[in-house]
This record gives sequence, C-alpha cells and structure tokens, in this order.
Amino acid sequence: MKFNTKAIHGGQHNIDPAYGSVMAPIYQTTSYRQNTPGSHQGFEYSRSGNPTRSALEKSLASIENGKHGLAFGSGVAAIDAILKTLTPGDEVISTSDLYGGTYRLFNRIYKDLGIKFHFIGMQNPQTVESYINPNTKLIWIETPTNPMLNIIDIEAVAKISKEHKLLLAVDNTFATAYLQKPLDLGADMVMQSATKYLGGHSDVVLGSIVVNNDKLAEQLYFIQNAGGAIPGPMDCFLVLRGIKTLHLRMQRHSENAKAVAEYLKTHPKIENVYWPGLKEHPNHDIARKQMKDFGGMVSFTTKGNSYEEAIKFIENLKIFTLAESLGGVESLAGHPASMTHASIPKAEREKTGIVDSLIRLSVGVEDEEDLINDLKQALG
Ligand SMILES: *Cc1c(COP(=O)(O)O)cnc(C)c1O
Repeated sequence: MKFNTKAIHGGQHNIDPAYGSVMAPIYQTTSYRQNTPGSHQGFEYSRSGNPTRSALEKSLASIENGKHGLAFGSGVAAIDAILKTLTPGDEVISTSDLYGGTYRLFNRIYKDLGIKFHFIGMQNPQTVESYINPNTKLIWIETPTNPMLNIIDIEAVAKISKEHKLLLAVDNTFATAYLQKPLDLGADMVMQSATKYLGGHSDVVLGSIVVNNDKLAEQLYFIQNAGGAIPGPMDCFLVLRGIKTLHLRMQRHSENAKAVAEYLKTHPKIENVYWPGLKEHPNHDIARKQMKDFGGMVSFTTKGNSYEEAIKFIENLKIFTLAESLGGVESLAGHPASMTHASIPKAEREKTGIVDSLIRLSVGVEDEEDLINDLKQALG
C-alpha cells in the first residue's frame, strides 16, 4: 500500500472480529474472560495489551514503514521508555536544539541516574563522530528541530551510528511519518508525540515508538508493560482517527506554512524567517532530500529583538491562538523564551538561536488569506 492508503487501512485488517465494525471499537475494559487459566483471545489485562491500543500500534507501525509499534501515555513517556534501555555509565549524544521537555527529562532525571549526555549541534553530521567513546550507546536526533527548524541529515548520522554499533533514535514529531521516514533512512527507533500532528485536533496526549528490530521491540514492550506508561483506549481511538486524515492535513499545513513564510520574508519588521522550505534555510537541500514537503512549523524573529514587542504581537493575534503545543488543525502562536523553552537557561537557549523576539507558529489548516491578514494586523 502507498502512504495515503496505509493512513486509513494500515494494520486494520479484520480489526473487529466480533461484529466487523469499520472503525476499531473502544475496548473500555481492564480485563478479559479466560475459558480455563491461560486460555484467552490474545488479551489478559489492559496494561499489557488492549485491542484498541493494538489497532493503533499496528497503524503506527504501518505508517512509519516499521515492524513493531508501541503506544505510550505521552510523547515524553515514549522517550522515557527509550532511555530506560540504558544503564548507568552509558552516554548519549543528543541534538542541542531540542524539545524543552526532552531536555528536562535527559538533564534533570536521567543525568542523576548516571547517564551522561552530550548536547551538540548536528547540522554537520561529522561532529557526532568526535563525541563517540566506548560508553556511547544512543544518538538522539530531532529534525526539524524545535523551534529553530534546523535540519539534520538522518541518513548520514545513521551511517555513523551503524559504523560504531550505536542505536539511533529520531523524534519525528514535527515532520510526521507523512513527510519523513527515519526507519527507511537507517534509524533504529522513531518516536513521535502523537499529541501533535497524528492526533491533529488538540484533544489527546499520546506518544509512539516504532522499530524494526525484534529484540529491541521486545525490550521496549517489556518496559511498556513493566513501567506502565500506557495510553487509555479512548485516547488510542482518537489518535487512530487522527491518522486517517494525516496525509490531507499535512499537505495543507505545508501549503499554508509556505504562504506564511513567504509573506513574513517580505515584511519590513521581520529579521529572520525559519522554515525548511526556504532556499536560504540551512540544510535546505537535505530537507528536500529526506522530506516530502516542509511541514507546518514556521519561526521568526523581529528587528530590534524586543521581548516586549514579541509579547505584544502574540497578544494582538486574533485567529492564531496564543498557546503551547502544535500540530492541530487550528493555528497557534508561541513565545519559546517564556513558554516551551523557559526550562532551558537563557544563556543556553540563546546559543541555539532562541532569542527574546523569537515567535513560533504552528500554521493550521484555515484559509491562507485569513492567516496572513491576521499576521499583518498583529505586526502593525
Ligand atoms: C510535544 C513534543 C514532545 C513531547 O510529547 P508529549 O506528548 O507532550 O509528551 C516531544 N518532542 C517534540 C518535538 C514535541 O513537540
């Protein structure tokens, strides 16, 4: 099947043997009747497995071109499960410009548990090589990065990772499986915050991991069951429903973001526009190579770099809602320095470009002209 068919049907064959329902039913149950001890229809207890979650996990694996899918209670819970495959003394090489919650998990929890992190810029993949030592176990990359939309060459990093027998995990939240397939490019694990584009309607928190390797899948499944950070059946249903329109939404998100980025570029008050589809964007050629389109996230800074003006701008927006998160059908605007990245020290965040006037837009699927007019009036 091609992607657009997989989004709707992938892994969903005979999803309801009981009544043949077209959509996976919401199995709101903790337990399953057994005829005699150990004799059941594949499910015993809903932390270990639930038919609605299983339907979602099969869909996740299908859209990422992977073999095994696992769903978690949030994106961060999925990242946490990946980190639990490590033991004290292990080292991780991670993108420096990354989601604030990931940085917090690495630096405030796993660092204290004896894992060592190297946060580095990876726009030149060769830099990764100089941080590898016998303790290195995992490379963590986010591309496009949040919120600077930096592009990392997944295939090039995967090559280095394989040469040194390390594991490579990719946070695919911004691109989604529609725009980018990290497993096809050589990654071992792909993680997504389904809270964002997969769910797509700002109404559910959930995380996913997809892998090809059977042993790794078994290890992650053990952690999923033993740690227990699973999503409930209703939430699995919502993400499953979201995935069915992922291709339609991602296409419109990308089209609208292109219009917004091009408009902002011409505005006299704007200093920098960050969108991977712009020719002058760093590593634009790599984005073109590894992504189908350039996605719905656009960041920008204003001339003079005023904190107060940035706040005023977001307060003035009428269609864009001032809110955390991204990836829903509605357009959102955020101020990373005071919101999503407030947990990263100022000096640290400014090194990666998160200055006081930086605004991050999650461009929704509304009418493009309305969105541009809203930006115009707020900048005015
Ligand atoms: C939101 C997000 C996460 C965390 O996901 P939650 O579902 O909020 O736990 C991780 N990575 C990226 C890039 C995100 O945007």
